[in-house]
Amino acid sequence: MSLPELREIPAARRCLLHVCCAPDAVVPFRDMKAEGWEIIGYFYGSNIHPEDEFCRRAAALGFLARSEGIEVFARPYNPEEWFARASVLAAEPERGARCTLCFEMQLRAAAEEGRRRGATHLGTTLSISPRKDAALISRLGREIGAAYGLTWDDRVWRKNDGFLRSLRIGRELGLYRQNYCGCLYSKPEQKTGPVSRNQKIKGECLSCPNIIPSGNCLPTFSKAKF
Ligand code: SF4
Repeated sequence: MSLPELREIPAARRCLLHVCCAPDAVVPFRDMKAEGWEIIGYFYGSNIHPEDEFCRRAAALGFLARSEGIEVFARPYNPEEWFARASVLAAEPERGARCTLCFEMQLRAAAEEGRRRGATHLGTTLSISPRKDAALISRLGREIGAAYGLTWDDRVWRKNDGFLRSLRIGRELGLYRQNYCGCLYSKPEQKTGPVSRNQKIKGECLSCPNIIPSGNCLPTFSKAKF
């Protein structure tokens, strides 16, 4: 296994960490904590389709946040907001223009939250996935962070076995791991028929004990803090 890069940690180090999903957050949570960062997690989630899948991912993140002792906030689920901008790009392939817009929406919402919560830095867990364009994420993060007065924490989390560690730790914790990126257009059944939903979910949202499998949790979820 290769050694992690040595990083210079700034004196003021409160990072608003955009979290795309629980399995992608385990390594950033643990590594940043070990480095002494103050972390505020933020889950956008309005790109996730359908609603019950949003709930599964949010519940998994709630479980992880509690088990790792990290404060995580969820944005109220608002798929209309996401579709209003992204649906014109429905035909785009994954890693195309729709994904660029989607990253931008997620990071902008995270930066707004970071400003509200007094963060000095902005970061994301997105770059742990081998399927994501790390250079694009880095460019967007720098630009959006600068627009909100936040320093971009520029990392490619999948480096140094980050992705393999996330798989291993996620398995150890029994975390729910989804089988598609998130939006309607990335769902496998769009091409291959229904996907089995027999994976057990560990944990439940603090705000909504009925979160799975009903998905009827929006009124409480809109106030969710894990
Ligand atoms: S495939 Fe993933 S990143 Fe791309 S638009 Fe859909 S949810 Fe967003």
